[in-house]
Amino acid sequence: MSAHARRLLITAGPTHEPIDSVRYIANRSSGRLGLALAEAAHDAGWDVTLLLGPVAAEPPAGVTTLRFESTADLAARLDACFPDCDVLIMAAAVADYRPRPAAAPKLPRRGDPVRLELEPTPDLVAACVARKRPGQRIIGFALEDAAALESRAAEKLRRKGLDAIVANPLETMGAEDIRAVLLTAGGERRVPADGRPLDKAAFARWLMAWLGSGHP
Ligand code: C5P
Repeated sequence: MSAHARRLLITAGPTHEPIDSVRYIANRSSGRLGLALAEAAHDAGWDVTLLLGPVAAEPPAGVTTLRFESTADLAARLDACFPDCDVLIMAAAVADYRPRPAAAPKLPRRGDPVRLELEPTPDLVAACVARKRPGQRIIGFALEDAAALESRAAEKLRRKGLDAIVANPLETMGAEDIRAVLLTAGGERRVPADGRPLDKAAFARWLMAWLGSGHP
């Protein structure tokens, strides 16, 4: 990474995918890790833009924050913000499926079962990889079953064309701690705290120290 890289774009939190005008499907992401990353990056002197999903937690002071609800909103935010960053950290827990079509009015309550059809969402981080310019770096996340953590993360790193990926077990979602492995496209493998769980703020500082020293 260039020594002049300083603009960091971080996405955090879940997406809410509308079923109708008042209901949605979502996942359990708390956004805590992304918020910790934004704070650690700001403290380390990065110029941080945070794209933050529907979570109750407040964004850190000093960080430019733009909100999103759905995958479609986040896609529009990335269209606007990605060209201006040096590094994208894609920590948002983007839904993999969304209802099709979302009904405009509120669906009335009836006695009969309701069938929802789900369509896959576009892979937003892969779309950023496809349009990245020289010098831009993209780091993704992989939340996986502990048994297949690294092999699945390595496959995702390759398939999405990321520069690096943070692999973490399913238990990380909504938890205070993270037990992570960092894999890079260059074949580097790093395990913070020798595999012991770290609180998310400590992990965020560790990742920022790694990024700040010119990686990936
Ligand atoms: O494919 P999977 O959801 O496991 O990939 C995780 C990584 O891909 C995360 O960095 C996540 O933010 C990103 N992602 C995305 N668009 C999707 C699904 C995931 O950018 N539709």
